[in-house]
Amino acid sequence: MTKVRNVGGKITETTKGNDNSFAKENITYNSQKKISFTSDKGIKHGKPETLPPPELPSKCKVEFRPSKSWQGEFGFDWCRIGDSQLPVDKPYSDIVGKYGAIYATSPSAVFTIKPELYQRHLAEYEKFVLSAFGTYYVPNLSLMKGEIAVLDAAIEIKENPDSMYYKYDKTVFEVKILEKLSNTKGKHFNDKVLEIKCLKEFSSKQKIELIATKNKIDNKIGQINVLPNNKVKEIDILFIPVEHNGSSGTIKGKEITILTNALKQAYVKGNIVRHKEKIKVGGWWYDLFFTKKDDKGVVSMETSNIRSIHRALDDVFFKEKDNEIYKNHYRVYMLTNSTSLNGMAEDIGKNAKVVVVYNNRNDSTAPHELMHAMGLYHTFDNDGLFTYKFQNTDNIMDYTHQVGKDRFSTNTWQWKILN
Ligand SMILES: [Zn+2]
Repeated sequence: MTKVRNVGGKITETTKGNDNSFAKENITYNSQKKISFTSDKGIKHGKPETLPPPELPSKCKVEFRPSKSWQGEFGFDWCRIGDSQLPVDKPYSDIVGKYGAIYATSPSAVFTIKPELYQRHLAEYEKFVLSAFGTYYVPNLSLMKGEIAVLDAAIEIKENPDSMYYKYDKTVFEVKILEKLSNTKGKHFNDKVLEIKCLKEFSSKQKIELIATKNKIDNKIGQINVLPNNKVKEIDILFIPVEHNGSSGTIKGKEITILTNALKQAYVKGNIVRHKEKIKVGGWWYDLFFTKKDDKGVVSMETSNIRSIHRALDDVFFKEKDNEIYKNHYRVYMLTNSTSLNGMAEDIGKNAKVVVVYNNRNDSTAPHELMHAMGLYHTFDNDGLFTYKFQNTDNIMDYTHQVGKDRFSTNTWQWKILN
């Protein structure tokens, strides 16, 4: 947009507050006489501040959230403010911070909210300003070709629009309106309002905008950003049953689905296979690890020497020459019960490819351990890029299953590590 102003005489502008100018390109002053800058506190040169987000005069706002039946089938990461109908949805302003020296899982751990880290978290989202409501943080959606996302809407209306419509590239998405959005004054929560189907791969960020029209003037009142989905990483994962003492580990109910979904969120395609043959361990192996007896004489695994179990199992597995084809697979060794563990990755990132899981695990343990191997720390770990309060997210890398809630989500910054 261009604005030109020609004045015959003199221009004087006065303000009692600050007067800020921002430009994406150049600012040029031309004079055929003198240019003067005067100041009581000095004239500063330096790095420019970032451009403030655009401000829109819209009188309605629509925030998009995953529907409450969402189990991570698509990636959706937004600045959480607790306005969805999901079972776990705490405002990030209350749960982004750091732990002290005692690890988060200990009852005596101390968590401190860190507003500066919350501000850094907000930078994960594009933003614009709705002058009637404040800053709007745009959610990040990851959606592979052929996949579908179903969303709810949290709506706030100060002045009824005449109409609303979605603006997006119709060659990339098919957007089905499942429910007409409420358009009367006040706050509303609308269930399953739209279904977005991704029709193809694309290489630059796509916007799906919601526009309200009032007196023939269009204003944006909501937005979703869909991240480029043309770089899908493929990984191979092998689940290997391990038998000892007559019993072996098995695949858990929903774990393959949870794993497939969680990887999809990061645009990773998991080729997941269950190894047909059980590998048998016993004798020396059993003697090495299964050394603990309870008061009834039942033997179980002693976990103090746990790290070497990954190497020990790999040694047994690769003794069979035919198994060499799995050298670059992620390998999930499924064992029977353990006394104190659900599972454990060999390492966090650093090319770790082996995880061990026990039959007493839950359906999200194997995805959790594999994502450790792929480089993710716990969400409550101080070593991660962000630290969230223990058991307050539905993230795969949290321990929310311990309080009876499902964990299935991942965030934009984790997608970057996984892909
Ligand atoms: Zn863990």
